[in-house]
Amino acid sequence: MNCEFTQAGKFMVCTRPGCKNRVPIFNPSLPATKYYATCFSTAPPRQTLRLGSLVADTFAKLGITESRYLAAKRKLGLAPKCGCNARKRWLDEVGKHFGMGV
Ligand SMILES: [Zn+2]
Repeated sequence: MNCEFTQAGKFMVCTRPGCKNRVPIFNPSLPATKYYATCFSTAPPRQTLRLGSLVADTFAKLGITESRYLAAKRKLGLAPKCGCNARKRWLDEVGKHFGMGV
């Protein structure tokens, strides 16, 4: 697991609990995400909420699952294709622009 760095003075310091990693900033134009170190934190990685998963979960709660969606399309004489994963990936990407799942 990589450290989650944030800038603190002349160092990048890890923000995860239990990890005291810090790396000297060698290039001030590099963002914190470009620094890598093996994290010593014992805390589980932060759960990231992705928009695609959120939408899929919401639909599932409404009873709209992938298999039911496909069955409905088949009944309407449409190709039983979902494109769910592609749409989910697309939504994940959209969500990233709003700070979700990053
Ligand atoms: Zn760390």
